[in-house]
Amino acid sequence: MNHFDVIIVGLGPTGSITALLLESYGIKVLGIEKEKEVYNLPRAVTISDQGFRISQLAGIDHIYQENSTVLGGARFTDKNLNTIGNGIDLQGLISQNGWPPSSLFHQPYTDHAIREKLDNSAVEVLLEHEFKDLICADKENRIKVLNLKEEEEIEFTCRYLIGSDGGSSLVRRKLDIEQIDLNYNRDWVVVDVELRNENTLGDQVLQVCDSERLTTFVPSHLPFRRWEFIIHEHEDKEMFLDESNIQKLIYKWLKPEEYKIIRKAVYQFHSIIAKNFKKDNCFLMGDAAHQAPPFMGEGMMSGYRDAVNLSWKIACTIKNELNEKLLETYEEERIPHSKFVVKNSAGIGELMEAYAETEDPNKVPQDLVNKGYGSFILPNLSSGFFFGGKANETMHSGEIFPQPVEYLNKKIVKRMDHILGDNFTLISKSKFSLSKDNQKFLDLLGCKTLILKKEYIEENSWLKSFMKEGTTYLVRPDRYIFGSTTSDVSLEELINDLKIRINL
Ligand SMILES: Cc1cc2nc3c(=O)[nH]c(=O)nc-3n(C[C@H](O)[C@H](O)[C@H](O)COP(=O)(O)OP(=O)(O)OC[C@H]3O[C@@H](n4cnc5c(N)ncnc54)[C@H](O)[C@@H]3O)c2cc1C
Repeated sequence: MNHFDVIIVGLGPTGSITALLLESYGIKVLGIEKEKEVYNLPRAVTISDQGFRISQLAGIDHIYQENSTVLGGARFTDKNLNTIGNGIDLQGLISQNGWPPSSLFHQPYTDHAIREKLDNSAVEVLLEHEFKDLICADKENRIKVLNLKEEEEIEFTCRYLIGSDGGSSLVRRKLDIEQIDLNYNRDWVVVDVELRNENTLGDQVLQVCDSERLTTFVPSHLPFRRWEFIIHEHEDKEMFLDESNIQKLIYKWLKPEEYKIIRKAVYQFHSIIAKNFKKDNCFLMGDAAHQAPPFMGEGMMSGYRDAVNLSWKIACTIKNELNEKLLETYEEERIPHSKFVVKNSAGIGELMEAYAETEDPNKVPQDLVNKGYGSFILPNLSSGFFFGGKANETMHSGEIFPQPVEYLNKKIVKRMDHILGDNFTLISKSKFSLSKDNQKFLDLLGCKTLILKKEYIEENSWLKSFMKEGTTYLVRPDRYIFGSTTSDVSLEELINDLKIRINL
């Protein structure tokens, strides 16, 4: 059988989580990956609160939890490591997603465990198979894959194709989708070390604005630490992979006998976004769709957001035999959000350069300072699959609905996204009734009703701020709010709009 509902090209972090999410909806998925082993070079180190929540949906949150440490914060410093400008302190905070805002993880550990989970799932996985070509058609995509071991070409067909095949995505090139360069392209060397001694380097990311060499220090999950050093245009990149040169760069922090270098690589930090994330029934996600410099630690997180946004829409379309209208909202929602992440990540790099170039940090223009930590928060979604097609402040549509959590001695002991289910949920403080027609429609869709217990609302400050008397929220499977009842919009009107939008 060479036909699948969905074929995913590339099983990096984005493709893997997408496969697991689709599988959880009972979708028949094939994952194609050209490498035999998971990628072993230094890359993602931070996972955000939303990233954790998405991994909960895919059943892999325990993998991150077992391999991570909460990040204390991030700040800019001068070359002597004195703080300049604004920073953020994150220690002890819990966001509305029910997780700390940012945690540090060790990617080789988590990637291996996620691959194992994938191997034991219903997802069909073909390693050492390279995607070569595709023909898009209205009802069916046909793809050509090379079995690298047997040197044999195989054809597969699928209703939907997902290209999560990284920055140089062949799927993107085959679809002839252009990229927009947002003009931050610099070479950096990234070094991961394993500490031999006790950690003394703190729990904050430091952006060291040294005019001689911009440097980022990341207090990775113990016993690991990371440094990133900019490489100037006239410098020889290869030189930066020489261990003795790396030791000189790290000397300010640690002596060579205090650590072992475990990984080193030169990366060009890009800020690029694809013009489209969809063409016919083919989609781009992860680095294939957008690449941001790592200063915000949000690159992989953007891939996770793509995954959670598209997977329920594909599942809903297949299961309810919908036309493709719902799928159009994937790029409508994801392009502006990803663009914000790419632009603001590059903004942090630009602010580092500005701080490094001046003697007086107070002279750095405010518009640049606003790009730094503490000055922005990730935006809500603005238009797409929401009441009236647009996010709306009064309804909180486009915002993420908080995750109910249970506390014991001021510590979270239970996260309860599962009570929201994996489909749409109507959430209220008090009971409500619906017309027969609308109830039948919601049942068909698998929409759940949840009357939140008083004690959850009292215990959760985030929930409390949302749960006003008489308000009912309609929450999407990815936890974004579709809309809510207001003084102008009744529950029946809310559901009627969902009906029109989903076209069932
Ligand atoms: C130094 C650095 C630090 C970073 N830090 C962070 C961070 O802290 N937090 C964060 O969120 N992000 C971070 N990022 C970004 C993050 O690593 C990437 O966004 C993320 O790895 C992208 O995942 P992906 O699955 O989209 O692509 P990839 O990880 O590139 O995976 C693509 C997969 O597709 C496969 N593939 C490619 N072509 C084919 C083909 N033709 N056929 C079959 N398979 C194919 C590849 O082998 C690969 O396995 C960092 C990046 C760098 C470079």
